[in-house]
Amino acid sequence: MNAHIITIGDEILIGQTLNTNAAFIGTLLSQNQINVSKTSVVGDDEQDIINEFNVCWAKNDLVICTGGLGPTIDDVTRKCIVQFFESELILDQEVLADIKERFERLKRVVTKLNEDQAMIPQCAVPIKNRKGTAPGYWIEQDKKIFIALPGVPSEMKEMMLSFVIPELKNKIGDLKKIRKTLSLLTTGIPESTLFQKLGNLSEILQGAKIAFLPNQFGTKLRISDEAEDERVVDLKLSEIELRIKALVGRYIYGKGDDDISETVCKLLIDRGMRISIAESCTGGNISNRLTNISGSSKFFDRGIVAYSNAAKVELLKVDEETIIKFGSVSEEVAKEMAIGIKEVSGTDLGIGITGIMGPTGATDGKQIGTVFIAIADDTDVFSRKFLFGDDRILNKDRASQAALDVIRRYLLGISLET
Ligand code: ATP
Ligand code: MG
Repeated sequence: MNAHIITIGDEILIGQTLNTNAAFIGTLLSQNQINVSKTSVVGDDEQDIINEFNVCWAKNDLVICTGGLGPTIDDVTRKCIVQFFESELILDQEVLADIKERFERLKRVVTKLNEDQAMIPQCAVPIKNRKGTAPGYWIEQDKKIFIALPGVPSEMKEMMLSFVIPELKNKIGDLKKIRKTLSLLTTGIPESTLFQKLGNLSEILQGAKIAFLPNQFGTKLRISDEAEDERVVDLKLSEIELRIKALVGRYIYGKGDDDISETVCKLLIDRGMRISIAESCTGGNISNRLTNISGSSKFFDRGIVAYSNAAKVELLKVDEETIIKFGSVSEEVAKEMAIGIKEVSGTDLGIGITGIMGPTGATDGKQIGTVFIAIADDTDVFSRKFLFGDDRILNKDRASQAALDVIRRYLLGISLET
């Protein structure tokens, strides 16, 4: 089943209201194996709305629109529906009773404008609005379904969850194809390099769809496919996963909504190892992310934010000479921070991180976004230099993600270098 979501309202077009309705409906539909083929936004203009109805209705089995069902002059959706389906407005006694009952409960007087909301297109079945007055509409014609919901997110959500989704499930029953999604989370590799390394994608995917979704934490590979038999989709996705892992497995730290700190947490607990973190440029972000995980006391001993040179010397026993000779943002200082925190805390591993987060602060020979991360164990210390962008806050996310990936790679025996 193909669906199109139309959100109606000038305020969305001009960016004053964030279009969260489309996101909410899109998520719910795809979770219920309904393919969202398109979403569109239309202003409060009758002709534009009717044109959009025409296009969407011709191409899809399901159209859901939100917005413009209210009683005020800018709410024109109902009028457009009446015209589009060549219907007429009739009074629905049940809706009227609901509106009156709601106003009585709220000790408000029912106005003519409110009563008018009980006039619904004859072709529609009203959808009860438990959070407001404007009912939604469910219209079936030519074996297709058209649904109109109010724009107010709380009203729309309640109607989607309590009526639309259960009803759609009933309608499509066994006819539907099962659509499933696999998300593989990568980090430490640019999107374009990932694409190159994957090589022949059509051979890997065998007809499934893939999306590359990058952000400051890495690139998510979202793979989706559908079939009538759930086991067929499951098998195909697991084969795709194996093929992808064979090519870029070292960059994959998790699936779905996993956070890399959860991956690191599991690895540390499995190995019975304890860790401490010495942070400069990330300002405690790594410690924060590790301690977001329940059970972190099993592996996390302490985090020290040693921002100034004095703090690095005093708290982490970094040699002043090293700072003078190589600068506070250097591989040597990162290594001494890692060794220092490990010794101070007596943990199995110590992490040191130092860098220039920007947008100012470039020093001779070191550009903004330069970060050094080191990891020390009982016998050795390893490090890697990274180069990120010039956005301070994004850099803090990128640098902490890289540090967590350094720990992951160390624990899995994967080289820290690309
Ligand atoms: P009402 O009966 O309250 O007038 P309505 O169906 O007429 O409902 P709109 O007037 O279009 O809905 O929108 C009501 C409120 O809902 C607006 O203030 C708007 O901020 C919010 N809203 C509308 N559409 C969306 C959307 N797509 N995403 C998020 N919020 C929205
Ligand atoms: Mg309105």
